[in-house]
Amino acid sequence: MTHLPEKLLDGYRNFMSGQFQAQTDRYKQLAREGQSPETLVIACCDSRAAPETIFDSGPGELFVVRNVANLVPPYAPDGEFHATSAALEFAVQALKVKNIVVMGHGRCGGIKAALDTEAAPLSPGDFIGRWMSLLSPATEAVVNNTMMTPVERQTSLERISIRYSLANLRTFPCVKILEDKGRLTLYGAWFDISTGELWVMNKETGDFERPEAL
Ligand SMILES: [Zn+2]
Repeated sequence: MTHLPEKLLDGYRNFMSGQFQAQTDRYKQLAREGQSPETLVIACCDSRAAPETIFDSGPGELFVVRNVANLVPPYAPDGEFHATSAALEFAVQALKVKNIVVMGHGRCGGIKAALDTEAAPLSPGDFIGRWMSLLSPATEAVVNNTMMTPVERQTSLERISIRYSLANLRTFPCVKILEDKGRLTLYGAWFDISTGELWVMNKETGDFERPEAL
């Protein structure tokens, strides 16, 4: 009997003899000096869209918060349990990151659930339903659009949700103030799992484009 899945133990052994071995000094330095990542990535929990993998990042480079459908709730200092807001607060106020990237992705299960208005809750708590209700105004606009195919609705809402999260980020006073001072920059990106394509949001138009350099 093992106390951790074998696949994870095998992976860990590979990590220790590979990555950790190769970057021992870097890990030691990070332990000694603490972390100072320049970028916060807000990404989905989806196992196929891991920011560290997609951006080929080493230890200490990315501060990552992942939640269902990479949503940022609006600023709400109401005494409730705000996991994403806590991570955001720490990244901006304590780590003083320079960049925040909201990264959505194709075939997002959270977005699919939001568009599937007929589906029953997965559990009595309906945590996903409640969480995805953050996007309700956008969802309602897309879900009722019969001119679009289901795939078009899905991709549209995935991208609208990124713009929506960026707007919510700016409701946090610390984000707004630092962005206005030019000390913090916000970005949007969308990753296509099947092709590996990364689409980047044009800050002026809000459209998603393939960067020319790729
Ligand atoms: Zn997702």
